[in-house]
Amino acid sequence: MQGETKYIFVTGGVASSLGKGIISSSIGKLLQARGYNITIQKFDPYINIDPGTLNPYEHGECYVTVDGHEADLDLGHYERFTGIRTTKANNVTTGRIYKSVIDKERRGDYLGKTIQIIPHITDEIKRSIKLLGTKNHFDFVITEIGGTVGDIESLPYLESIRQLKWEMGKNALCVHLTYVPYLAAAKELKTKPTQHSVKQLQSAGIQPDILVLRTEYDLNTNLRKKVALFCNVEEKAVVQSLDQPTIYEVPLRMQEQALDTTILEKMGLPVGETPSLGPWREFLERRHRATEAVKIGLVGKYDLQDAYKSILESISQAATYNDRKADVKFINSEKLTDENVAVQLGDRDGIIICPGFGQRGIEGKLTAANYGRTHDIPTFGICLGMQCMAIEFARNVLGFADANSREMDEKTPHNVIDIMEEQKSITNMGGTMRLGAYECVLKKGSRVYEAYRKEHIQERHRHRYEFNNEYKDAYEKAGMKCVGINPESDLVEIVEIPALRWYIGVQFHPEYSSTVLKPHPLFLSFIKAAITK
Ligand code: GLN
Repeated sequence: MQGETKYIFVTGGVASSLGKGIISSSIGKLLQARGYNITIQKFDPYINIDPGTLNPYEHGECYVTVDGHEADLDLGHYERFTGIRTTKANNVTTGRIYKSVIDKERRGDYLGKTIQIIPHITDEIKRSIKLLGTKNHFDFVITEIGGTVGDIESLPYLESIRQLKWEMGKNALCVHLTYVPYLAAAKELKTKPTQHSVKQLQSAGIQPDILVLRTEYDLNTNLRKKVALFCNVEEKAVVQSLDQPTIYEVPLRMQEQALDTTILEKMGLPVGETPSLGPWREFLERRHRATEAVKIGLVGKYDLQDAYKSILESISQAATYNDRKADVKFINSEKLTDENVAVQLGDRDGIIICPGFGQRGIEGKLTAANYGRTHDIPTFGICLGMQCMAIEFARNVLGFADANSREMDEKTPHNVIDIMEEQKSITNMGGTMRLGAYECVLKKGSRVYEAYRKEHIQERHRHRYEFNNEYKDAYEKAGMKCVGINPESDLVEIVEIPALRWYIGVQFHPEYSSTVLKPHPLFLSFIKAAITK
C-alpha cells in the first residue's frame, strides 16, 4: 500500500506487565500478514537515556538492535513476532526526548523562547513518533507507550497522542489494554478498573478506539457490552486477551476476534480476505505436539525470568523445531559450587552459561563451564559465558591457575580476557561497549560452520572485554579452537572444543536474532546436540 502512513498507539491501564508488547507485536504480525509494511516502536517514560545502564532487575533484559542501540526488551518481541529489524529510532525514552530538547536549547535553536513541556517536549515526542514513518515508507507505525495511564511520567506522551489523533483523524487510532480482575470471593470478573482507566484516558482528551481486556477467565457477551457502553467503544472493538499457554498464540486469538479487521475498518482501509498465517500455525502445532522434554540448565546470576528473555525464547523456539518441549531450570551461579554442581547440572541435557557484567556469580559460571567440559554435556557460553569457558580452560587445561578476565581481576598476570585498547580511556558507563552487529568469518569444518552452513555471518555484540589473542596459539594447541574471527579487528568471536559433543562459546549474542519463523542456527544445533544421546 502506498499512501499516508497510519499510526496505531497502544497504551495500558490498571496495571503494568499486562503484555502491551505482545499485543503490539500481534497487531504488527496480523497487519503484516495482510501485506502491509509495518514497524513497531516503544516510547518509555523513564529518564534514563537508554536502558543500557539499567540493572536487569529493574526492566529485565537489555535488548540490542543491529545498529548497536541498547533497547527495551519489548523490541525483542517485535522482532521475534514479525521478523522486522528494529533500530535506535524504534526505542525512545523521556531521557532522550529531554536531552534533545536541552541540546537544542543550548544551541539556541529556540530563539530565546521559554522551553515548556507543552509545546516543546510534546513537539519533540511527536517528531520522534513520526520519524520512522517519514524516513522510510511504512503503511503502519505501531507505537507502544510504556507505563500505565495515570503515571505522571506518561502525561506528555498522552498529550502528544491527543494532538496527533486530532491532526491525523482517521490515520491515527488508539488501542488501550487493561486488566479485568477476577474476585474469587464474589466469583465475579470486575470491569470497574477498566472503566476508570478509560476515564483517565478520556480526561487526557483521548477516546480509545479499541479496548483489549486482559483476563484469566472468558468474558461473556454481557460483560463486553457493559464495557462498550461505559467506555464509548463499539462492541466489536472490545477484545479479550485470555491467558495463553504461549505468547505466540496471541496473534491467533486476536485474529479470531477480528482485531485486525476492526483496525482496518476504523482506518478506512479495505478489509479483504483473512490471512491463513500458515507457517505460524505450523510452528504452534509442532510446539503443542512435542511431549518429550529437553532439559536445559540456565546458569546466570539474575533470578528473574525477564533478565534472560531472549535466551529463553531462543531455547523454546529451537526446542519446538527439534520437536521437544523446553524444560529450563534456572541455576543461580552465586550458589553453584564444586560440591553441588553434580546435583544441579547432572540431569541436564545441555547447559547455557549466561551473559553478565561484574564479579558477582562468576565462580559458579566457571564451575558450570568446568562441569560441562569434563562431563561432555553440550554447553553453550554466551558473551560472559564464552569468556568463562576460556578462563576455565586456561586455569585447568593450560595450567594458569590465576587466569582471569581483566574485568574481574585487574592485575592478573594471565589476562586471557582483556579490555580492548580503545576502551581503556573510557570512564563513562553509558554506551561505551562494542555494540551492534559485527562481521564474523567462520572456519570451514568447524561445528559452528556446520550449524550456520555459511562462512560469513553477522551477529550482535554488547561487551567491553575480548579474548586476548596472545594466548590464541596456546588454546588451539590444547584443543580449544578459535573458529570465528572478526575479519576487521582479528578478534576471536567463537571458541569450540571439537573433541567434545558440543562445547561452544560465542562472544556475541545470538539470542537477539532468533525469531519464531527463523530460529537461530546455533540454538537449533545446540538443542539438537542436547537431545542426541
Ligand atoms: N562483562 C563482559 C564484557 O563486558 C561480558 C558482557 C556480556 O556478557 N554481555 O565483556
